[in-house]
Amino acid sequence: MRLTSDFAIGEKVAKVKAVHEALLEEYGPRRWRQRLDPLSELIYTILSQNTSDVNRDRAYERLKKRFPTWERVRDAQVEEIAEAIRPGGLAKVKAPRIKSILHTITERRGKLSLDFICQMEIEEAKEWLGSLTGVGPKTTACVLLFGCGRPAFPVDTHVYRISKRLGLISRKASTQEAHQTLEDLVSPRDYYAFHLNLIAHGREVCKARRPRCEICGLASYCDYRREVGDWHS
Ligand code: SF4
Repeated sequence: MRLTSDFAIGEKVAKVKAVHEALLEEYGPRRWRQRLDPLSELIYTILSQNTSDVNRDRAYERLKKRFPTWERVRDAQVEEIAEAIRPGGLAKVKAPRIKSILHTITERRGKLSLDFICQMEIEEAKEWLGSLTGVGPKTTACVLLFGCGRPAFPVDTHVYRISKRLGLISRKASTQEAHQTLEDLVSPRDYYAFHLNLIAHGREVCKARRPRCEICGLASYCDYRREVGDWHS
């Protein structure tokens, strides 16, 4: 039984490697660069929940323009924060969440910074971030991967959808399970490129409603393609 399971895992790891290589061919290698400091990355990711990238960016820019420092956001009225982030949607949920997180970090650390998280042991860092209200595995992984360059694998909506279609994760897998499974299957040194390239593929080819299987470089690895054939060609 164990051997069968090891064999199945080995096959999945090989498939992930092949998919990663195909994505590199298509979208090229990715060199890590810090896009934001860890605290800014955390707020940026919270703003990305249940909205488009465009609306997230508008909300983030408006928030930074209205409040030049995170201390100013922390000390602002929830209504003022909500007004600033309104274009990002769910402002009434996100505004108190952001304010509460900024207060919690200040209380626990004595100042508003998450730079320390980059030095922590990875599981400890995940636990620390995950203990903040409203911070799940995707947000935690984004802070660690993008803010710190640490090995964590965020599963966003594109990664989740394509991984299911390819058969890398079960169709019934929760996002929590998807994080664990993909972190186990993907080599940590590939997390960054694999994540970004899957997102690029999800935007350009493996779209949610109408995947463009007929032009997809991953078609030979894809369970969905095998099962539904040319429905979408
Ligand atoms: S073959 Fe179709 S469903 Fe499969 S990864 Fe490509 S676009 Fe997505």
